[in-house]
Amino acid sequence: MTNLALSNLAYLLAAVFFILALRGLSSPTSSRIGNLFGMIGMSIAVAATFLIGENLNLLLIFIPLLLGGGIGIYAAKTVQMTKMPELVALMHSFVGLAAVLIGLAAVFNVFESHSTVQRFELFIGAFIGAITFTASIVAFGKLSGKFGAKPIVFKGQHLINLCLAIAMVICGVIYFQSESIAAFIMMVTLALVLGVTLIVPIGGADMPVVVSMLNSYSGWAAAGIGFTLNNSVLIIAGACVGSSGAILSYIMCKAMNRSIISVMLGGFGADATADIASQAERPVKSGSADDVAYLMSNADSVIIVPGYGLAVARAQHALQELTAKLIEKGVSVRYAIHPVAGRMPGHMNVLLAEADVPYEQVAEMEDINGEFSQTDVVLVIGANDVVNPAAKTPGSAIYGMPILEAQKAKMIIVNKRSMAPGYAGLDNELFYSDKTTMLFGDAKKVVEDLVKAI
Ligand code: NDP
Repeated sequence: MTNLALSNLAYLLAAVFFILALRGLSSPTSSRIGNLFGMIGMSIAVAATFLIGENLNLLLIFIPLLLGGGIGIYAAKTVQMTKMPELVALMHSFVGLAAVLIGLAAVFNVFESHSTVQRFELFIGAFIGAITFTASIVAFGKLSGKFGAKPIVFKGQHLINLCLAIAMVICGVIYFQSESIAAFIMMVTLALVLGVTLIVPIGGADMPVVVSMLNSYSGWAAAGIGFTLNNSVLIIAGACVGSSGAILSYIMCKAMNRSIISVMLGGFGADATADIASQAERPVKSGSADDVAYLMSNADSVIIVPGYGLAVARAQHALQELTAKLIEKGVSVRYAIHPVAGRMPGHMNVLLAEADVPYEQVAEMEDINGEFSQTDVVLVIGANDVVNPAAKTPGSAIYGMPILEAQKAKMIIVNKRSMAPGYAGLDNELFYSDKTTMLFGDAKKVVEDLVKAI
């Protein structure tokens, strides 16, 4: 068997492992094995690539491989759970950059002429890669708080984006027809700018959709590299990531009651200045851990709404202890999970699974929303946007987003450290309601105090 045939066979095997990996990652119970399949598939793919290389400079391959691999292992081992989404955004940017650099290398290689199909692949792959690169950097900045989550909107923004997109496509078509290097570079430059201008107007609450869209783009960019390099496993792996990311974006859009088009066009229909958190001091009712422990242990039913603050405080184990104590006292306790709570899809499910919370105590938004009105006490812990009734006010940046209907419960306890807004930067009327008691403090400390008091 020739090296080429052997490598094609190995690529086929790798592709099967990638598909098994995606299957495994579709459920928390099988995700570990899914990850393992992914790693096996990638190892096979990397090893097989050596079989088809000619005149390889092993030093030039192994030094970056070890360097990149080392940095990757270090980053994955040391990253905190709360920093995961920004790490993922940064990784998407690397895929985009790789697509652009490989495209440029192919275009600058004057010794090789490109067929019509190859020029088309280079045109599409490079501009998707360039948009993915800068858009992911902006997403990284927004998620890490370096750029602020506030949407940046200005007059004529959509027109500018439209003009940039048209100019980019025109340059791409000129390259496609004439192989003009200048037109290719111009197209990439315009795509890099477009990546920024498309993402800056997107508000904090819409970031989950953006992250999953970038995930999808990075997959298509990788598939584009696969075409440029004539590498079938890259095309398959890229297409798997691209299509699963697109499905995830669709699911996120449905959960947020948004259309993909409106999110990508950036804050369409939202008046970004309408409801930025008001700085004015307003009175709220606050209580102590002892008061709240008394209320909770005398309730018949409690719903816990976890949010990003729970992840920051790493309070999930203490919360599980609190739940166990309440259940022991005969209180019915359930967790209500909003699809975009936290900072990555499934964030709250992962945290609760880490603390061994039984699956039957955990309910998704659509299954539990009808139960809030008959619930005695709702404990909102480190959550804000996902219970913000502003989502029902036309003109609000989160207008239309479904929320957990905590405001309908008989009594609401909100734990957070201050009156600071959530990720979307909006004030939350729930905190000022007569039925609400604020329980200020770090979630872990507060829950531990509640456990002691009960
Ligand atoms: P929010 O970001 O709306 O609110 C979190 C709250 O937690 C803050 O108000 C903060 O208030 C509080 N908090 C922070 N640290 C602590 C702590 N140590 N102890 C107690 N409280 C704390 O979170 P939600 O989960 O309600 O909503 C998620 C938001 O993130 C949505 O807007 C969503 O669109 C967005 N998003 C989600 C992604 C996803 O895929 N899930 C990805 C990107 C964005 P204070 O500072 O006063 O303590």
